[in-house]
Amino acid sequence: MRDLPDQTSVQKFVYDFTEGNKDLKDLLGGKGANLAEMTNLGLPVPPGFTITTEACQVYLDSGDEPAALRSEVSAHLEALEQRMGKKLGEPADPLLVSVRSGAKFSMPGMMDTVLNIGLSDASVTGLAQQAGDERFAWDSYRRLIQMFGRTVLGVDGELFEEALEEAKETKGVTVDTDLGAADLKQLVKRFKKIVKAEAGRDFPQDPREQMDLAIKAVFASWNGDRARLYRRQERIPNDLGTAVNVCSMVFGNLGPDSGTGVAFTRDPASGQQGVYGDYLQNAQGEDVVAGIRNTVPLAELEKIDKASYDLLMRIMETLENHYLDLCDIEFTIERGKLWMLQTRVGKRTAGAAFRIATQLVDQGLINEAEALMRVNGAQLAQLMFPRFDEDAPVELLGRGIAASPGAAVGKAVFDSYTAVKWSRSGEKVILIRRETNPDDLDGMIAAEGILTSRGGKTSHAAVVARGMGKTCVCGAEELEVDTKRRRMTVGGTVVEEGDLVSIDGSTGKVYLGEVPVVPSPVVEYFEGRMHAGADDADELVAAVHRIMAYADRVRRLRVRANADNAEDALRARRFGAQGIGLCRTEHMFLGERREMVERLILADHDEERAEALEKLLPLQKKDFIELLEAMDGLPVTVRLLDPPLHEFLPDITELSVRVALAEARKDHNENDLRLLQAVHRLHEQNPMLGLRGVRLGLVIPGLFAMQVRAIAEAAAARKDAKGDPRAEIMIPLVGTVQELEIVRDEAEAVIAEVEAATGTSLKLALGTMIELPRAALTAAQIAEAAEFFSFGTNDLTQTVWGFSRDDVEASFFTAYLEKGIFGVSPFETIDQDGVGSLVRSAVAAGRATRPGLKLGVCGEHGGDPESVHFFHEVGLDYVSCSPFRIPVARLEAGRAAIESRGSDSR
Ligand code: PEP
Ligand code: MG
Repeated sequence: MRDLPDQTSVQKFVYDFTEGNKDLKDLLGGKGANLAEMTNLGLPVPPGFTITTEACQVYLDSGDEPAALRSEVSAHLEALEQRMGKKLGEPADPLLVSVRSGAKFSMPGMMDTVLNIGLSDASVTGLAQQAGDERFAWDSYRRLIQMFGRTVLGVDGELFEEALEEAKETKGVTVDTDLGAADLKQLVKRFKKIVKAEAGRDFPQDPREQMDLAIKAVFASWNGDRARLYRRQERIPNDLGTAVNVCSMVFGNLGPDSGTGVAFTRDPASGQQGVYGDYLQNAQGEDVVAGIRNTVPLAELEKIDKASYDLLMRIMETLENHYLDLCDIEFTIERGKLWMLQTRVGKRTAGAAFRIATQLVDQGLINEAEALMRVNGAQLAQLMFPRFDEDAPVELLGRGIAASPGAAVGKAVFDSYTAVKWSRSGEKVILIRRETNPDDLDGMIAAEGILTSRGGKTSHAAVVARGMGKTCVCGAEELEVDTKRRRMTVGGTVVEEGDLVSIDGSTGKVYLGEVPVVPSPVVEYFEGRMHAGADDADELVAAVHRIMAYADRVRRLRVRANADNAEDALRARRFGAQGIGLCRTEHMFLGERREMVERLILADHDEERAEALEKLLPLQKKDFIELLEAMDGLPVTVRLLDPPLHEFLPDITELSVRVALAEARKDHNENDLRLLQAVHRLHEQNPMLGLRGVRLGLVIPGLFAMQVRAIAEAAAARKDAKGDPRAEIMIPLVGTVQELEIVRDEAEAVIAEVEAATGTSLKLALGTMIELPRAALTAAQIAEAAEFFSFGTNDLTQTVWGFSRDDVEASFFTAYLEKGIFGVSPFETIDQDGVGSLVRSAVAAGRATRPGLKLGVCGEHGGDPESVHFFHEVGLDYVSCSPFRIPVARLEAGRAAIESRGSDSR
């Protein structure tokens, strides 16, 4: 008899909290994995179990939950009931549970959660008796109907909110805690009527039915609009699914000795160690996150309930030492007993990420390699944004909580719809709300910054903005936000929709009008204007310095700059560039030199052409001398002219009109006529695929020779001046080795001439761009004639996909992104499967022909974090990117090196 194959072993869909651990995030989601981890650490976690993401995947694929799920849930529920000594929804003493979503990656507020499952008309009195608190029981019941109605039965949440407001108005009170048991009992009736009318069914009284429906609703919420949008934004794959945590309820709304809170082991905005968080007495978790009532700082808990506070502090220390990172925590105190409801490695601002990473190294908790992996290029890029000029005259409107740093200026808008509409038409907007909720996500994405008048550091606005790296000020209570009239009032000042406001997410300050900005200290540091050890350098600059130094020590990839003038080259060098990977010489033919190029194009015979080239030669030579001087001792790759010639000629329509008008006036302009003829001659339907790059060099006699001569003479002049020029000559848009061979022969002859004339040996490397599929496919042949390859991934992406670079992003990429055809534009992050596979094979083929072949990339992808990891992995020697992105590329090259070592050796 054969052994049964593995697949037939029964798949397990439900795990008790005692069975999991923090490394099972794929299966149990982040929340479930960490609840299990805390349970196993012996921390006070209410017992419960987790339904796996695999069960959700089955539900998403088939529209129904796996057949085995029900009986597995029954077995785990029974075990839970035994442990708790009560049964789900039992009238006399009901066990109540929460049903919470929890995916692998945190998606705050984007999916559903239902609390107090198990309450019914029958068990609400039992709960009241057990708790000795009738008000509490009815409050819990109304919350269940409200949450269940909204998330499971799809009833408009506003209807419940309105009914609650009305109940408060009738009673003449302003906060819900002032509603008594009798009021809440009435409200429950009202809520049940709303459910019946809107959902067409009664609120289910069977506790198990409540639980099963809630589990399905959580599964389904994975595909809700908000969740999908959030995933697209955060690049979270669509097929992961969510786990569902069923957890015995503990209550923070049992009176003043109960409450609920959120805490961080360090300040997520600054990284400072200390007690950070918010606490809300006599409340359930959603009250804190939604910012509905104002919380008190966590430190106050010491006065309210010292024993719980002390225990919480000990637990926070245990968690930091266990997770070796900043943790965020949700907890509840039920009549003086502390319960941990959630923990995870917390989100933090970019600045805090750098500071925390180095603090943890100093505490001996992690090593430098791990510290490098705790930060990323996107965070570094954020730190390089400018800040508000504190010395500028400003009109301070008010101050809120500095929830997510940055300096944002924009027009005030008071709803998400307007934020999206205005930003689509190119306006910069600040989204101002009393508080945000998940429905505001679109507007938050569209806005430069978010400002709210209510809620703390853990409110929805703060958490989501931090996750997105968006500037946010929240809880600015002096601002009276009137969304209906689209304005806010502060003291006597009224800010109308469209008025400019500036918000500072690092200080929490809100200004009227546009405040000027100054460079970030991190940029000042890279520029060499601030030294990491200097008195005025803050902890952040010191942390960035340490991590950058480490990244530089471990990275294999070198980082060069795309720069075509001395100023950019010098900046790039200050930012750590190890050479120039792409000097686009067409940028040297602009301004007044354009006319000379025009003459070159219009030349009828050799002499005229030679004359035009002769005029350009000294100018080009001067350019290259300056560039080589700025990059003395480092390689400078100069690319010969690439763009189609019509780019140097006047626009065809404008010129035609000018000629026609002149003709009508009988004003005959010979030059314009010649120009128009040339423009017609050179007009192309697809200029990007036309006469450009090496093709130009082959058909315009003398053009490339002039450029090569200028480079060679410049190098000779630099040598003469005792410099160390390292120019490299690069041929663009090569499709076949024959093109390269012809240009190469011509270039070598020119170089030899200059060497002979100057008596200097120049050793100029000659190489090519690989930016056409054919070049990549015939890399083995091309390497015979090239000393280096530089992958032009902009053109390679264009030609591999058949996407016109200048057209597609605006015309249909949004639709493609929305449909999930790709998660990010392939012009931004390299398409590894398509374009990347050509790069990979060309690397192998090129090196097989010429083992010492130098390989780099100079397309935009050279500065993109994810792409840098790919280029490291395929074995390039360097990436080249715009000067401002160099620090990001250095950092990511270091991270790529650590990553490829594998996590064991970190
Ligand atoms: C490229 O195609 O990737 C490249 C760097 O050249 P350009 O963007 O100038 O075409
Ligand atoms: Mg190109």
